[in-house]
Amino acid sequence: MSWSFETDPEFQQLLDWVQEFITEEVEPLDYLPFHPYDIADPLRAELVPPLQQKVKDKGLWACHLGPNLGGPGYGQVKLALLNEIIGQTRNGPIVFGTQAPDSGNAEILAHYGSPALKEQFLQPLLNGEITSTFSMTEPQGGSDPTRFIVQAQLDGDEWVINGEKWFSSLGRYSSFFIVMAVTEPDADKYQRQSMIVVPAGTPGLEFVRDTGVWGDALGEGHHPYLRYSDVRVPKENLLGERGQGFLVAQTRLGGGRIHHAMRSMGLARRAFEMMLERSVSRRASGDELLARKQMVQDMIAETWMELEQFRLFVLQTAWKIDKYNDYKRVRGDISAIKALMPKVLHNAASRALQIHGSLGISNELPFGEWILDSYHMGLADGATEVHKSTLARILIAEATPSETLFPSYILPYRVEESRKRYAEALARHGK
Ligand SMILES: Cc1cc2nc3c(=O)[nH]c(=O)nc-3n(C[C@H](O)[C@H](O)[C@H](O)COP(=O)(O)OP(=O)(O)OC[C@H]3O[C@@H](n4cnc5c(N)ncnc54)[C@H](O)[C@@H]3O)c2cc1C
Repeated sequence: MSWSFETDPEFQQLLDWVQEFITEEVEPLDYLPFHPYDIADPLRAELVPPLQQKVKDKGLWACHLGPNLGGPGYGQVKLALLNEIIGQTRNGPIVFGTQAPDSGNAEILAHYGSPALKEQFLQPLLNGEITSTFSMTEPQGGSDPTRFIVQAQLDGDEWVINGEKWFSSLGRYSSFFIVMAVTEPDADKYQRQSMIVVPAGTPGLEFVRDTGVWGDALGEGHHPYLRYSDVRVPKENLLGERGQGFLVAQTRLGGGRIHHAMRSMGLARRAFEMMLERSVSRRASGDELLARKQMVQDMIAETWMELEQFRLFVLQTAWKIDKYNDYKRVRGDISAIKALMPKVLHNAASRALQIHGSLGISNELPFGEWILDSYHMGLADGATEVHKSTLARILIAEATPSETLFPSYILPYRVEESRKRYAEALARHGK
Protein backbone atom coordinates (compact mmCIF):
# COMPACT_ATOMS: atom_id res chain seq x y z
CA MET A 1 0.00 0.00 0.00
CA SER A 2 1.45 3.37 -0.92
CA TRP A 3 -0.25 6.61 0.01
CA SER A 4 1.82 9.72 0.37
CA PHE A 5 1.33 13.47 0.47
CA GLU A 6 5.02 14.31 0.41
CA THR A 7 7.05 16.02 -2.30
CA ASP A 8 10.48 14.50 -3.09
CA PRO A 9 13.11 16.74 -1.48
CA GLU A 10 14.83 17.04 -4.88
CA PHE A 11 11.68 18.23 -6.60
CA GLN A 12 10.90 20.51 -3.66
CA GLN A 13 14.22 22.26 -4.31
CA LEU A 14 13.13 22.84 -7.87
CA LEU A 15 9.77 24.18 -6.66
CA ASP A 16 11.58 26.55 -4.30
CA TRP A 17 13.64 27.80 -7.23
CA VAL A 18 10.46 28.30 -9.29
CA GLN A 19 8.76 30.23 -6.49
CA GLU A 20 11.71 32.58 -6.12
CA PHE A 21 12.04 33.01 -9.89
CA ILE A 22 8.32 33.75 -10.26
CA THR A 23 8.32 36.30 -7.44
CA GLU A 24 11.60 37.99 -8.26
CA GLU A 25 11.78 37.87 -12.05
CA VAL A 26 8.42 37.01 -13.60
CA GLU A 27 5.88 38.90 -11.51
CA PRO A 28 7.52 42.31 -12.24
CA LEU A 29 6.76 41.72 -15.96
CA ASP A 30 3.04 41.70 -15.12
CA TYR A 31 3.25 45.41 -14.37
CA LEU A 32 4.84 46.42 -17.68
CA PRO A 33 2.90 47.63 -20.74
CA PHE A 34 2.87 44.58 -23.03
CA HIS A 35 0.60 41.60 -23.55
CA PRO A 36 2.27 38.25 -22.68
CA TYR A 37 1.15 36.75 -26.02
CA ASP A 38 2.18 39.71 -28.20
CA ILE A 39 5.36 38.25 -29.63
CA ALA A 40 5.81 41.24 -31.97
CA ASP A 41 6.04 43.76 -29.08
CA PRO A 42 9.71 44.87 -28.88
CA LEU A 43 9.63 45.31 -25.08
CA ARG A 44 8.29 41.78 -24.66
CA ALA A 45 10.81 40.51 -27.24
CA GLU A 46 13.61 41.99 -25.12
CA LEU A 47 12.41 40.84 -21.69
CA VAL A 48 10.59 37.51 -22.06
CA PRO A 49 12.93 35.25 -24.11
CA PRO A 50 15.86 35.56 -21.66
CA LEU A 51 13.60 34.36 -18.85
CA GLN A 52 12.30 31.55 -21.07
CA GLN A 53 15.92 30.56 -21.65
CA LYS A 54 16.56 30.39 -17.88
CA VAL A 55 13.57 28.04 -17.58
CA LYS A 56 14.89 25.90 -20.46
CA ASP A 57 18.34 25.77 -18.85
CA LYS A 58 16.74 24.56 -15.64
CA GLY A 59 14.95 21.77 -17.56
CA LEU A 60 11.53 23.18 -16.69
CA TRP A 61 10.34 24.26 -20.14
CA ALA A 62 6.92 22.94 -21.28
CA CYS A 63 6.54 20.60 -18.32
CA HIS A 64 3.14 19.40 -19.58
CA LEU A 65 4.88 17.64 -22.49
CA GLY A 66 6.62 14.30 -22.60
CA PRO A 67 10.22 13.92 -23.82
CA ASN A 68 8.97 13.06 -27.35
CA LEU A 69 7.85 16.70 -27.64
CA GLY A 70 10.75 18.28 -25.82
CA GLY A 71 9.29 18.40 -22.30
CA PRO A 72 10.65 16.64 -19.23
CA GLY A 73 7.57 14.39 -18.90
CA TYR A 74 7.16 15.01 -15.20
CA GLY A 75 3.56 13.79 -15.13
CA GLN A 76 0.51 15.59 -13.81
CA VAL A 77 1.20 15.59 -10.06
CA LYS A 78 4.49 17.39 -10.44
CA LEU A 79 2.92 19.61 -13.08
CA ALA A 80 0.17 20.54 -10.60
CA LEU A 81 2.74 21.60 -8.01
CA LEU A 82 4.57 23.65 -10.63
CA ASN A 83 1.48 25.19 -12.21
CA GLU A 84 0.22 26.25 -8.82
CA ILE A 85 3.26 28.54 -8.60
CA ILE A 86 3.42 29.51 -12.28
CA GLY A 87 -0.29 30.44 -12.21
CA GLN A 88 0.30 33.16 -9.62
CA THR A 89 1.34 35.52 -12.42
CA ARG A 90 0.02 36.56 -15.82
CA ASN A 91 3.36 36.03 -17.58
CA GLY A 92 4.26 32.81 -15.74
CA PRO A 93 2.68 30.35 -18.20
CA ILE A 94 4.35 32.09 -21.18
CA VAL A 95 7.74 32.12 -19.45
CA PHE A 96 7.41 28.38 -18.66
CA GLY A 97 5.93 27.40 -22.05
CA THR A 98 2.71 26.00 -20.57
CA GLN A 99 0.18 28.64 -21.64
CA ALA A 100 -3.33 27.96 -22.89
CA PRO A 101 -4.50 27.56 -25.58
CA ASP A 102 -1.06 26.80 -27.08
CA SER A 103 -0.41 23.81 -24.80
CA GLY A 104 -3.59 22.07 -25.98
CA ASN A 105 -3.17 23.16 -29.59
CA ALA A 106 0.35 21.69 -29.59
CA GLU A 107 -1.06 18.39 -28.35
CA ILE A 108 -3.59 18.38 -31.21
CA LEU A 109 -0.91 19.14 -33.80
CA ALA A 110 1.37 16.49 -32.34
CA HIS A 111 -1.38 13.85 -32.53
CA TYR A 112 -3.13 14.79 -35.76
CA GLY A 113 -1.01 17.25 -37.76
CA SER A 114 0.49 16.39 -41.15
CA PRO A 115 4.32 16.44 -41.35
CA ALA A 116 4.10 19.81 -43.14
CA LEU A 117 1.90 21.34 -40.42
CA LYS A 118 4.18 20.00 -37.72
CA GLU A 119 7.18 21.53 -39.35
CA GLN A 120 5.50 24.87 -40.01
CA PHE A 121 3.69 25.30 -36.70
CA LEU A 122 4.37 22.64 -34.06
CA GLN A 123 8.07 23.18 -33.52
CA PRO A 124 7.90 27.00 -33.35
CA LEU A 125 4.89 26.68 -31.01
CA LEU A 126 6.79 24.32 -28.72
CA ASN A 127 9.78 26.65 -28.80
CA GLY A 128 7.60 29.58 -27.70
CA GLU A 129 8.32 31.46 -30.95
CA ILE A 130 4.65 31.71 -32.04
CA THR A 131 1.19 31.54 -30.43
CA SER A 132 -2.09 30.07 -31.65
CA THR A 133 -5.87 30.23 -31.35
CA PHE A 134 -8.58 27.64 -30.85
CA SER A 135 -11.54 28.87 -32.90
CA MET A 136 -14.58 26.85 -31.91
CA THR A 137 -17.31 28.96 -30.26
CA GLU A 138 -19.82 30.68 -32.58
CA PRO A 139 -22.11 33.63 -31.91
CA GLN A 140 -25.22 31.43 -32.01
CA GLY A 141 -23.89 28.45 -30.08
CA GLY A 142 -21.25 27.96 -27.41
CA SER A 143 -22.11 25.35 -24.79
CA ASP A 144 -23.71 23.09 -27.37
CA PRO A 145 -21.23 22.54 -30.22
CA THR A 146 -23.83 20.62 -32.24
CA ARG A 147 -25.32 24.05 -32.99
CA PHE A 148 -22.19 25.25 -34.82
CA ILE A 149 -22.77 26.13 -38.48
CA VAL A 150 -19.38 27.24 -39.85
CA GLN A 151 -18.95 25.09 -42.96
CA ALA A 152 -15.91 23.72 -44.76
CA GLN A 153 -16.32 22.18 -48.21
CA LEU A 154 -13.68 20.36 -50.19
CA ASP A 155 -13.01 22.01 -53.54
CA GLY A 156 -10.30 20.06 -55.38
CA ASP A 157 -7.30 20.03 -53.07
CA GLU A 158 -8.55 22.78 -50.79
CA TRP A 159 -10.99 23.28 -47.94
CA VAL A 160 -13.17 26.36 -48.40
CA ILE A 161 -14.36 27.69 -45.04
CA ASN A 162 -17.34 30.02 -44.50
CA GLY A 163 -19.02 31.34 -41.37
CA GLU A 164 -18.39 33.23 -38.14
CA LYS A 165 -16.56 32.40 -34.92
CA TRP A 166 -16.60 34.33 -31.66
CA PHE A 167 -14.29 34.52 -28.65
CA SER A 168 -11.39 33.15 -30.70
CA SER A 169 -9.08 34.28 -27.93
CA LEU A 170 -5.75 35.95 -28.67
CA GLY A 171 -6.42 35.74 -32.41
CA ARG A 172 -4.62 39.04 -33.04
CA TYR A 173 -1.33 37.52 -31.88
CA SER A 174 -1.72 34.07 -33.38
CA SER A 175 0.17 32.47 -36.24
CA PHE A 176 -2.58 29.92 -36.87
CA PHE A 177 -6.15 29.05 -35.93
CA ILE A 178 -7.57 25.58 -35.27
CA VAL A 179 -11.10 25.93 -36.63
CA MET A 180 -14.00 23.59 -36.00
CA ALA A 181 -16.24 23.38 -39.09
CA VAL A 182 -19.08 21.25 -40.43
CA THR A 183 -17.66 19.04 -43.17
CA GLU A 184 -20.24 16.21 -43.07
CA PRO A 185 -23.63 17.98 -42.86
CA ASP A 186 -25.61 14.75 -43.31
CA ALA A 187 -23.82 12.69 -40.66
CA ASP A 188 -24.90 12.04 -37.08
CA LYS A 189 -24.68 15.30 -35.09
CA TYR A 190 -21.47 14.24 -33.31
CA GLN A 191 -19.78 13.19 -36.57
CA ARG A 192 -20.50 16.32 -38.60
CA GLN A 193 -17.57 18.52 -37.71
CA SER A 194 -13.84 18.48 -38.37
CA MET A 195 -10.83 20.48 -37.21
CA ILE A 196 -8.86 22.44 -39.79
CA VAL A 197 -5.77 24.62 -39.46
CA VAL A 198 -6.03 28.12 -40.92
CA PRO A 199 -2.76 30.11 -41.02
CA ALA A 200 -3.03 33.75 -39.92
CA GLY A 201 -3.33 36.16 -42.82
CA THR A 202 -5.11 33.67 -45.11
CA PRO A 203 -7.29 35.74 -47.48
CA GLY A 204 -10.93 35.82 -46.36
CA LEU A 205 -10.14 35.67 -42.62
CA GLU A 206 -11.55 38.93 -41.25
CA PHE A 207 -11.59 40.40 -37.73
CA VAL A 208 -15.14 41.74 -37.41
CA ARG A 209 -14.35 43.29 -34.04
CA ASP A 210 -12.01 42.90 -31.09
CA THR A 211 -14.37 41.84 -28.36
CA GLY A 212 -13.05 42.29 -24.85
CA VAL A 213 -14.21 41.35 -21.38
CA TRP A 214 -15.59 43.71 -18.76
CA GLY A 215 -13.01 46.39 -18.00
CA ASP A 216 -11.63 46.47 -21.57
CA ALA A 217 -12.53 49.54 -23.59
CA LEU A 218 -15.25 48.88 -26.19
CA GLY A 219 -13.60 47.68 -29.40
CA GLU A 220 -10.45 46.64 -27.55
CA GLY A 221 -9.98 43.15 -26.26
CA HIS A 222 -8.50 39.75 -26.86
CA HIS A 223 -11.47 37.58 -27.83
CA PRO A 224 -12.13 38.53 -31.44
CA TYR A 225 -15.25 38.00 -33.47
CA LEU A 226 -14.01 36.42 -36.73
CA ARG A 227 -15.57 35.98 -40.16
CA TYR A 228 -14.33 33.27 -42.52
CA SER A 229 -15.37 34.14 -46.10
CA ASP A 230 -14.22 31.61 -48.73
CA VAL A 231 -11.06 30.98 -46.71
CA ARG A 232 -9.02 28.41 -48.67
CA VAL A 233 -6.47 26.08 -47.09
CA PRO A 234 -4.81 22.87 -48.38
CA LYS A 235 -6.77 19.69 -47.73
CA GLU A 236 -3.81 18.39 -45.67
CA ASN A 237 -4.69 21.04 -43.06
CA LEU A 238 -7.43 18.72 -41.80
CA LEU A 239 -6.58 17.39 -38.32
CA GLY A 240 -7.53 13.75 -37.86
CA GLU A 241 -10.31 12.14 -39.87
CA ARG A 242 -13.22 13.94 -41.50
CA GLY A 243 -16.10 14.22 -39.02
CA GLN A 244 -13.87 13.55 -36.00
CA GLY A 245 -13.76 17.14 -34.71
CA PHE A 246 -15.23 16.21 -31.32
CA LEU A 247 -12.64 13.50 -30.82
CA VAL A 248 -9.81 15.88 -31.78
CA ALA A 249 -11.20 18.56 -29.42
CA GLN A 250 -11.12 16.08 -26.53
CA THR A 251 -7.35 15.70 -27.03
CA ARG A 252 -6.84 19.18 -25.68
CA LEU A 253 -9.73 19.59 -23.30
CA GLY A 254 -9.00 16.88 -20.71
CA GLY A 255 -5.51 18.16 -19.97
CA GLY A 256 -6.40 21.80 -20.62
CA ARG A 257 -9.14 21.84 -18.00
CA ILE A 258 -7.07 20.43 -15.18
CA HIS A 259 -4.14 22.70 -16.10
CA HIS A 260 -6.45 25.73 -15.73
CA ALA A 261 -7.42 24.39 -12.31
CA MET A 262 -3.78 24.04 -11.26
CA ARG A 263 -3.07 27.64 -12.26
CA SER A 264 -6.26 28.92 -10.59
CA MET A 265 -5.06 27.40 -7.32
CA GLY A 266 -2.11 29.76 -7.56
CA LEU A 267 -4.32 32.85 -7.95
CA ALA A 268 -6.67 31.79 -5.16
CA ARG A 269 -3.68 31.19 -2.89
CA ARG A 270 -2.37 34.68 -3.60
CA ALA A 271 -5.76 36.15 -2.70
CA PHE A 272 -5.67 34.15 0.53
CA GLU A 273 -2.17 35.35 1.43
CA MET A 274 -3.17 38.98 0.83
CA MET A 275 -6.25 38.44 2.98
CA LEU A 276 -4.06 37.16 5.82
CA GLU A 277 -1.55 39.99 5.59
CA ARG A 278 -4.26 42.63 5.60
CA SER A 279 -6.11 41.10 8.52
CA VAL A 280 -3.03 41.22 10.73
CA SER A 281 -2.17 44.79 9.61
CA ARG A 282 -5.44 46.76 9.58
CA ARG A 283 -7.30 47.89 12.65
CA ALA A 284 -11.02 48.67 12.89
CA SER A 285 -13.56 49.39 15.66
CA GLY A 286 -12.21 49.00 19.18
CA ASP A 287 -8.66 49.52 17.85
CA GLU A 288 -8.71 45.83 17.12
CA LEU A 289 -6.97 44.02 14.27
CA LEU A 290 -9.30 42.70 11.59
CA ALA A 291 -7.84 39.29 12.39
CA ARG A 292 -9.56 39.50 15.82
CA LYS A 293 -13.03 39.94 14.32
CA GLN A 294 -14.86 36.64 14.25
CA MET A 295 -16.56 37.31 10.93
CA VAL A 296 -13.18 38.02 9.37
CA GLN A 297 -11.87 34.82 10.94
CA ASP A 298 -14.80 33.02 9.36
CA MET A 299 -13.77 34.32 5.91
CA ILE A 300 -10.16 33.25 6.49
CA ALA A 301 -11.11 29.78 7.69
CA GLU A 302 -13.69 29.21 4.94
CA THR A 303 -11.19 30.26 2.27
CA TRP A 304 -8.45 28.02 3.59
CA MET A 305 -10.79 25.03 3.87
CA GLU A 306 -12.07 25.50 0.31
CA LEU A 307 -8.56 25.95 -1.03
CA GLU A 308 -7.19 22.86 0.69
CA GLN A 309 -10.12 20.68 -0.40
CA PHE A 310 -9.76 21.89 -3.97
CA ARG A 311 -6.00 21.43 -3.97
CA LEU A 312 -6.25 17.87 -2.70
CA PHE A 313 -8.90 17.10 -5.28
CA VAL A 314 -6.76 18.51 -8.10
CA LEU A 315 -3.70 16.60 -6.90
CA GLN A 316 -5.65 13.38 -6.51
CA THR A 317 -7.02 13.72 -10.05
CA ALA A 318 -3.53 14.49 -11.35
CA TRP A 319 -2.34 11.33 -9.59
CA LYS A 320 -5.13 9.30 -11.22
CA ILE A 321 -4.14 10.65 -14.65
CA ASP A 322 -0.54 9.59 -14.05
CA LYS A 323 -1.67 6.19 -12.81
CA TYR A 324 -4.25 5.31 -15.48
CA ASN A 325 -2.90 7.35 -18.38
CA ASP A 326 -6.49 7.45 -19.63
CA TYR A 327 -8.52 10.67 -19.50
CA LYS A 328 -11.78 8.76 -20.00
CA ARG A 329 -11.37 7.23 -16.54
CA VAL A 330 -11.17 10.67 -14.94
CA ARG A 331 -13.85 12.47 -16.96
CA GLY A 332 -16.08 12.88 -13.92
CA ASP A 333 -13.21 14.08 -11.72
CA ILE A 334 -12.15 16.64 -14.31
CA SER A 335 -15.72 17.90 -14.73
CA ALA A 336 -16.02 18.21 -10.96
CA ILE A 337 -12.77 20.18 -10.75
CA LYS A 338 -13.84 22.36 -13.66
CA ALA A 339 -17.12 23.14 -11.87
CA LEU A 340 -15.45 23.78 -8.50
CA MET A 341 -12.63 25.98 -9.78
CA PRO A 342 -14.68 29.15 -10.47
CA LYS A 343 -16.30 28.95 -7.05
CA VAL A 344 -13.01 28.55 -5.16
CA LEU A 345 -11.35 31.41 -7.05
CA HIS A 346 -14.45 33.61 -6.82
CA ASN A 347 -14.85 33.07 -3.08
CA ALA A 348 -11.16 33.66 -2.33
CA ALA A 349 -10.97 36.82 -4.46
CA SER A 350 -14.23 38.32 -3.22
CA ARG A 351 -13.51 37.66 0.45
CA ALA A 352 -10.04 39.19 -0.02
CA LEU A 353 -11.69 42.20 -1.68
CA GLN A 354 -14.13 42.57 1.22
CA ILE A 355 -11.40 42.39 3.86
CA HIS A 356 -9.42 45.09 2.03
CA GLY A 357 -12.47 47.40 1.93
CA SER A 358 -12.19 50.38 -0.43
CA LEU A 359 -8.62 49.40 -1.23
CA GLY A 360 -9.89 45.95 -2.21
CA ILE A 361 -12.35 47.26 -4.76
CA SER A 362 -9.94 49.87 -6.08
CA ASN A 363 -7.99 49.49 -9.29
CA GLU A 364 -4.81 49.28 -7.22
CA LEU A 365 -5.42 45.65 -6.31
CA PRO A 366 -6.26 42.73 -8.62
CA PHE A 367 -9.33 41.29 -6.88
CA GLY A 368 -11.87 42.62 -9.39
CA GLU A 369 -9.83 41.11 -12.22
CA TRP A 370 -9.59 37.77 -10.40
CA ILE A 371 -13.34 37.72 -9.77
CA LEU A 372 -13.82 38.25 -13.50
CA ASP A 373 -11.26 35.49 -14.10
CA SER A 374 -13.46 33.18 -12.04
CA TYR A 375 -16.31 33.77 -14.51
CA HIS A 376 -13.85 33.15 -17.36
CA MET A 377 -13.04 29.81 -15.68
CA GLY A 378 -16.76 29.05 -15.39
CA LEU A 379 -17.33 29.51 -19.13
CA ALA A 380 -14.22 28.72 -21.16
CA ASP A 381 -13.82 25.00 -21.96
CA GLY A 382 -17.45 24.37 -21.03
CA ALA A 383 -19.93 26.10 -18.73
CA THR A 384 -20.09 24.97 -15.09
CA GLU A 385 -23.64 23.70 -15.49
CA VAL A 386 -22.65 21.47 -18.40
CA HIS A 387 -19.81 19.97 -16.35
CA LYS A 388 -22.12 19.37 -13.40
CA SER A 389 -24.52 17.55 -15.73
CA THR A 390 -21.65 15.45 -17.11
CA LEU A 391 -20.55 14.52 -13.61
CA ALA A 392 -24.08 13.75 -12.47
CA ARG A 393 -24.70 11.54 -15.53
CA ILE A 394 -21.51 9.55 -14.81
CA LEU A 395 -22.49 9.11 -11.16
CA ILE A 396 -26.11 8.26 -11.96
CA ALA A 397 -25.01 5.64 -14.52
CA GLU A 398 -23.46 3.70 -11.64
CA ALA A 399 -26.66 3.68 -9.58
CA THR A 400 -28.97 0.63 -9.46
CA PRO A 401 -32.73 1.11 -9.20
CA SER A 402 -34.44 -0.61 -6.28
CA GLU A 403 -36.51 -3.69 -7.10
CA THR A 404 -38.88 -3.22 -4.20
CA LEU A 405 -41.85 -0.88 -3.82
CA PHE A 406 -40.00 1.21 -1.22
CA PRO A 407 -36.22 1.72 -1.35
CA SER A 408 -34.35 -1.39 -0.23
CA TYR A 409 -32.73 0.55 2.60
CA ILE A 410 -35.90 1.54 4.52
CA LEU A 411 -35.80 0.38 8.10
CA PRO A 412 -38.75 -2.06 7.98
CA TYR A 413 -36.96 -4.04 5.20
CA ARG A 414 -33.61 -3.88 7.02
CA VAL A 415 -35.15 -5.05 10.32
CA GLU A 416 -36.97 -7.91 8.56
CA GLU A 417 -33.75 -9.08 6.84
CA SER A 418 -31.77 -8.80 10.01
CA ARG A 419 -34.32 -10.70 12.06
CA LYS A 420 -34.42 -13.42 9.41
CA ARG A 421 -30.64 -13.76 9.43
CA TYR A 422 -30.34 -13.94 13.22
CA ALA A 423 -33.64 -15.79 13.83
CA GLU A 424 -31.97 -18.59 15.82
CA ALA A 425 -30.04 -16.23 18.06
CA LEU A 426 -33.14 -14.15 18.64
CA ALA A 427 -35.08 -17.31 19.53
CA ARG A 428 -32.32 -18.43 21.92
CA HIS A 429 -32.60 -15.14 23.77
CA GLY A 430 -36.37 -15.04 23.62
CA LYS A 431 -36.45 -11.83 21.57
C1 LIG B 1 -12.57 34.61 -21.43
C2 LIG B 1 -13.07 33.57 -22.38
C3 LIG B 1 -12.21 33.04 -23.33
C4 LIG B 1 -12.69 32.12 -24.25
N1 LIG B 1 -11.85 31.65 -25.22
C5 LIG B 1 -12.32 30.83 -26.18
C6 LIG B 1 -11.47 30.39 -27.23
O1 LIG B 1 -10.27 30.69 -27.25
N2 LIG B 1 -11.99 29.64 -28.22
C7 LIG B 1 -13.30 29.28 -28.24
O2 LIG B 1 -13.71 28.59 -29.16
N3 LIG B 1 -14.14 29.69 -27.25
C8 LIG B 1 -13.69 30.44 -26.23
N4 LIG B 1 -14.53 30.88 -25.22
C9 LIG B 1 -15.94 30.57 -25.31
C10 LIG B 1 -16.41 29.52 -24.33
O3 LIG B 1 -15.99 28.26 -24.77
C11 LIG B 1 -17.94 29.66 -24.24
O4 LIG B 1 -18.19 30.84 -23.51
C12 LIG B 1 -18.61 28.48 -23.57
O5 LIG B 1 -18.52 27.31 -24.36
C13 LIG B 1 -20.10 28.78 -23.30
O6 LIG B 1 -20.74 29.15 -24.49
P1 LIG B 1 -21.56 30.53 -24.56
O7 LIG B 1 -20.71 31.59 -24.00
O8 LIG B 1 -22.06 30.70 -25.93
O9 LIG B 1 -22.75 30.33 -23.55
P2 LIG B 1 -24.16 29.66 -23.85
O10 LIG B 1 -24.00 28.39 -24.60
O11 LIG B 1 -25.05 30.71 -24.42
O12 LIG B 1 -24.61 29.32 -22.38
C14 LIG B 1 -24.94 30.39 -21.47
C15 LIG B 1 -25.28 29.82 -20.12
O13 LIG B 1 -26.41 28.95 -20.25
C16 LIG B 1 -26.32 27.93 -19.27
N5 LIG B 1 -26.28 26.62 -19.94
C17 LIG B 1 -25.81 26.33 -21.16
N6 LIG B 1 -25.93 25.01 -21.42
C18 LIG B 1 -26.48 24.45 -20.33
C19 LIG B 1 -26.84 23.12 -19.96
N7 LIG B 1 -26.64 22.08 -20.79
N8 LIG B 1 -27.40 22.92 -18.73
C20 LIG B 1 -27.59 23.96 -17.88
N9 LIG B 1 -27.27 25.23 -18.17
C21 LIG B 1 -26.72 25.48 -19.36
C22 LIG B 1 -25.02 28.17 -18.50
O14 LIG B 1 -25.30 28.97 -17.35
C23 LIG B 1 -24.20 28.96 -19.49
O15 LIG B 1 -23.18 29.75 -18.86
C24 LIG B 1 -14.06 31.74 -24.24
C25 LIG B 1 -14.91 32.26 -23.25
C26 LIG B 1 -14.42 33.14 -22.33
C27 LIG B 1 -15.38 33.70 -21.30
